[in-house]
Amino acid sequence: MRNKITIIAGFRMEIKISGHNYQYDVSGMSLLFFPGEPVCFKTHPRGALRLSSRVVNTTRGLYARATFWMEESVYRAEKKMQNYTREEMLAAVKHTIYRVFSRATGILPPWGILTGIKPTGIYQRLLAEKGALETRRILLKEYLMRPEKIPLLHQICRVMETVQTDCSKEASLYISIPFCPSRCSYCSFISVAAERCNHLMELYLEKLCGEIHEKCRVLNENGLSVRAVYIGGGTPGILSPQQIEKLLSVIRSELKAPLREFTFELGRPDTVTEEKLRLLKSFGVSRICINTQTTNDRVLEQIGRKHTRAQYLHAVSLTRKMNFDSINTDLIAGLPGEDEASFARSLEDVLKAGADNITIHTLSIKRSSRLHETPDYFDPRNDHVQRMLDRAYERLLRLGFIPYYMYRQKKTVSNGENVGFARPETICLYNLYMMEDLHTVAACGAGASTKIISGESGRIERIINVKYPFEYIGEYEKVRHNTHLLEQKLKERT
Ligand code: SF4
Repeated sequence: MRNKITIIAGFRMEIKISGHNYQYDVSGMSLLFFPGEPVCFKTHPRGALRLSSRVVNTTRGLYARATFWMEESVYRAEKKMQNYTREEMLAAVKHTIYRVFSRATGILPPWGILTGIKPTGIYQRLLAEKGALETRRILLKEYLMRPEKIPLLHQICRVMETVQTDCSKEASLYISIPFCPSRCSYCSFISVAAERCNHLMELYLEKLCGEIHEKCRVLNENGLSVRAVYIGGGTPGILSPQQIEKLLSVIRSELKAPLREFTFELGRPDTVTEEKLRLLKSFGVSRICINTQTTNDRVLEQIGRKHTRAQYLHAVSLTRKMNFDSINTDLIAGLPGEDEASFARSLEDVLKAGADNITIHTLSIKRSSRLHETPDYFDPRNDHVQRMLDRAYERLLRLGFIPYYMYRQKKTVSNGENVGFARPETICLYNLYMMEDLHTVAACGAGASTKIISGESGRIERIINVKYPFEYIGEYEKVRHNTHLLEQKLKERT
């Protein structure tokens, strides 16, 4: 089986669809099983990998059918529809594709036919409409999910229900610092390595402070109080103490209501100093993120993160002495050179260091990352990453950590997910406000995405800033335009 995939690597997946128009979802299914193979839709596919997905109306009823050709073998599946709803048709189309791909490759993706980023939304809706037993049946039999994922969904949804916010009165503020000390090999973010653009940072900060001032004015004038602030990156810890002071002074002067939470993502451990921590504490920062991703020094070097395990442990120990409300650390399962034992050791290090929040990511390899050139990562049968996740979840649950938010990304190794765990009473509110679209998030900086949530209609609108720091500085009128758009949309909302 393994050889088959290797032999066909480099071929395109050619797809013909008829009787439905779920191109996007069909592409998503193809990426689950063949993440390295580009997809193209054709009227007459002829390649070594080709799929036909169709919906046909017969005298016996409406059917979804899939036929998949892989080299000399042909795989077929069909599913009859009962209710003829769009939702049922989409599920049936994905179901048949899952079956032919799964038979051909032996792969059983952990989330079955669910390709979206938020399976929690589907779980909540099913639970409300169908009850627990029927929801479980649908997830296992219709969506073909692995059973071990259901308790995870259930626990996360229970935590989500406890978080309250009045979306007509409250908002969050996100601030992007897209600079890093060096570029990690797996990074697909817009962040730029500081050595190449140190000169940009001062100019960037100048413009950023202006945008924060304007966005906060718009929120205040429209009756929205900022209740959570998140300064993320990139690596915000790269800012000098003077730059941090300038940024936090501007933020503080704009806030009109007490914050529930103030997160500063220092990021790389080698940027953490006592002076910066004191400063953050004096401005009321409550949550610090120090992200090591792994504590295996060999892996850290291999992925281009210029810090060590010792620096991580020292950074967390310094931070703990300052009594912030919580410390978060991100880990990534599936990094090159990291096996199950090494990942388990990383988790133990993070636990011993004393992180209150531990976010377990699965390595995702986007086109713009250097790792994208390594095709081995695209084999979704690398099940060892699922085992890393399962063992980590088990360990964290046993220690009393609670899973409280989750999202999925495309092109993750082993089709894994990202899950935030927290000790009780330390869940990150911003993550929930933002991920679950609970209220408006005004986002400032390059690449930042503002989300406007309209309470009653539940409508979500996005306004995205220019991508790169040099554009942000050079084309600041576009940022002003976005702030104006935010103002208009908030006015329309009321
Ligand atoms: S620290 Fe994060 S944002 Fe910066 S290069 Fe590494 S992965 Fe990208």
